[in-house]
Amino acid sequence: MFEDLRDLYQEVIFDHNRNPHNFRVMENADRKVEGFNPLCGDRLTLFLKLDHDVIIDASFQGSGCAISTASVSLMTDIIKNKTEQEAEALFEVFHKMTTGKEEEIQLDAVGKLAVLAGVREYPARVKCATLAWHTLDAALKNEADSISTE
Ligand code: ZN
Repeated sequence: MFEDLRDLYQEVIFDHNRNPHNFRVMENADRKVEGFNPLCGDRLTLFLKLDHDVIIDASFQGSGCAISTASVSLMTDIIKNKTEQEAEALFEVFHKMTTGKEEEIQLDAVGKLAVLAGVREYPARVKCATLAWHTLDAALKNEADSISTE
């Protein structure tokens, strides 16, 4: 299914890993949550600026493997100017893409995030890809300052 796109996808992941988007501390963030994936050692701090229920800015700091860095880089791009509900809906679609049944995958609904669809074939890397989203989920729910995937 992803065979012919795999090289292109890997290229995008390497690009985001080399030059992560939104890699900065946000001084006036409304939400700040730390995410940790002990399985791989990926650590990130996610910053959000909200205007009512709209995410008007998103950034991150931290260090992790190429998959986790590319994932949070892509995520902080895609959730900007989305409502909290839209962002949670994207998390659902992304989660299904990386862990669900193949027939449930909606690649057209995830846009650029489709480059991470390949991780579903590597169960050990799924948490690297979903760490950013679990951290976002915690930030939107505003219930915890830090989360761990384990
Ligand atoms: Zn990782």
